[in-house]
Order: sequence, then structure tokens, then C-alpha cells
Amino acid sequence: MRKQIAAANWKMNLTLQQGEELLDAIISKPHSLQPHQQAVFAVPFPYLFMAQQKLSGKQNVFVAAQNCYSKKSGAYTGEVSVEMLQSLNIPYVVIGHSERREYFQESNQLLADKVTICLENKIQPIFCCGEPLQIREANTQNEYVAKQLAESLYHLSAEQLQQVVIAYEPIWAIGTGKTASSAQAQEMHAFIRAQLSAKYGASVADAISILYGGSVKAANAVEIFGQPDVDGGLVGGASLVADEFVAIINALK
Ligand code: PEP
Repeated sequence: MRKQIAAANWKMNLTLQQGEELLDAIISKPHSLQPHQQAVFAVPFPYLFMAQQKLSGKQNVFVAAQNCYSKKSGAYTGEVSVEMLQSLNIPYVVIGHSERREYFQESNQLLADKVTICLENKIQPIFCCGEPLQIREANTQNEYVAKQLAESLYHLSAEQLQQVVIAYEPIWAIGTGKTASSAQAQEMHAFIRAQLSAKYGASVADAISILYGGSVKAANAVEIFGQPDVDGGLVGGASLVADEFVAIINALK
């Protein structure tokens, strides 16, 4: 079975102490991760080391960065390189979250470079894609997402692509309380998989985990994750509440 992932995106929230308390609370609650299931915590950069230490030795639980820079090293004040993340043994990094695309003007081309440098350094990108509201209203979301995939991922070899986790996050559903219906999520996930299949072949496409993101919470996770092409979720708001996120982990199929 494909890897099923519940990924927490803390964004720019919580102090160090609050982050420690949240992780402690989540770890202390009963959750059962089967071998094909993972919980991932994308925490702010200053908390990576703390989270790595707290979660070390926990089966199928991993820490992720929320971003990285596209260059190897050098005079880029304020940026964080993939080599730095690798030196902390961080296995995942979120790439191209819609907030990075919107507020920091991250283009598909820049994201292609970030994906490449992650893979060159053996860090798995969680690559985000998804359409804004006006695109959904014009019913051109398939073309929009296909372009994001083509421009940021299709330079990869099939072997490289298999190291990528994709997160489909319709922007109109992020932090808004509006969730795509499970049918809308399934439809887009199946479309993404069909696109990957056309480019890389069915066996490659079938092996790639595609997460859904957009107001996932305990109350809707079972239904959304139950869709055949949905392999878990990237979760913002609900990942900041221990009981909610544990329930989301337990909703993985
Ligand atoms: C996100 O941060 O990627 C996200 C989907 O946020 P929320 O769950 O709050 O909508």
C-alpha cells in the first residue's frame, strides 16, 4: 500500500515552549501507526532540533522543515539550505506551500530548483499544488494544477519523482473552514495521478502519495482519507490541537 501520511504544518505559530508542550501532548496520547503510515511535523526552523530530539526513536514519526532555499550555500542572509537540514537529519521539507507562492512570490521555476536540490541531498519534498478560488469558479483547476506539476516536477527522472510527496491544497480551502468535498478531493487526486501516469507510467504514479490539504480536521478526516487516491493530509489549524491531530493520525487508512 502507498505511504499514508498525516503531516502537521505549524506555519508561523507557537513559542518554543508551546511547541514542546504540543509535541509532548501528542506523543502521550494513544495512536497507532502501522508500517505504511507516518506522522510528520513541519515545524518552524528554530524548533527543528527540539522536535528531532523529542521524536527520536518514535516509530514512523518524522520532522519536516516548512521551506528551504534553492541554492547550495553562500551569501543568502536569512535563508536555510538543504545541507543544513540534512545535517540535522531532517527527512522532509514542504515546498511551494500556497502561502510561500502568494506572500513570497515563489514561482513554479524556483520551486523546480528547490525540489531538485532537496532530492540531490536525499530530502523528500512535500510538494504543494492547488488552485485559487477564481480558478475553481472558472472550472479551470485541472489545467492550473497540471501546469504547476509540469513546470516544477517534470524535469525529474522517474526515480527522483518517486521520492516526492504531493500535497493538493485548494487555496480556497486553506484556513477558511471550507473543505473540498471528498468527491472534489478524489477527483483532483485522481487527475493528478493520471497526469503523472501519462508522463511517468502507471507503476510510478501509483506509488506516489498524494495528500489533501484544506481545513482537514478530526470530524472530516476519515471521509477524506477514505477516498482511494487520497493518501492522508497536510494539516494547518487542526495540527495545533493535540486531540485533533491525534484523531487525524488515527484516521489514516
Ligand atoms: C495548510 O497549512 O497547509 C493547511 C491546509 O491549513 P488548514 O488545515 O488550516 O486549512
